[in-house]
Amino acid sequence: MADTYEGGCHCGALRYRVRALSEDVAHCHCSICRRVSGGLVMTWLSLPLDDFQWLGEEPRCYVAPTSCKRYFCGRCGAHVALVTTHSPDTVDITVTTLDQPELVRPHKHIWTDSRLPWLHLDEQLPSEAGESIAAGSFDDHAAEGLGRIE
Ligand SMILES: [Zn+2]
Ligand SMILES: [Zn+2]
Repeated sequence: MADTYEGGCHCGALRYRVRALSEDVAHCHCSICRRVSGGLVMTWLSLPLDDFQWLGEEPRCYVAPTSCKRYFCGRCGAHVALVTTHSPDTVDITVTTLDQPELVRPHKHIWTDSRLPWLHLDEQLPSEAGESIAAGSFDDHAAEGLGRIE
């Protein structure tokens, strides 16, 4: 997939471009995703930081204690991206903010320890109780990575 892909928030203030789509797409069942989105699950597309750039306004950033920096629209509140301490060189974007979310396909469930027992979704996909990547910490590089690039 050589083309670029774009997405953005509901009001249009936040826009972004990604250089390529990846196969790394997961339904996240963690309680933080639920609280910040108000939704049952958030579905994330993981990409190298270098493949992502903001095009519109500066995002607002919420630093959730211990785990992640979450980027959202300061106007409409849409949650667009996050960078986690587990994987500071990777950005996760919300599949649902892509202009063409149907182009990617979820491949697994993560953080199923926190999964709501009455939610049934893609039951055939593999599941991870947590997330199968080593814990890390933020460095300045990761903090810069989601700043305004263009
Ligand atoms: Zn917005
Ligand atoms: Zn989550």
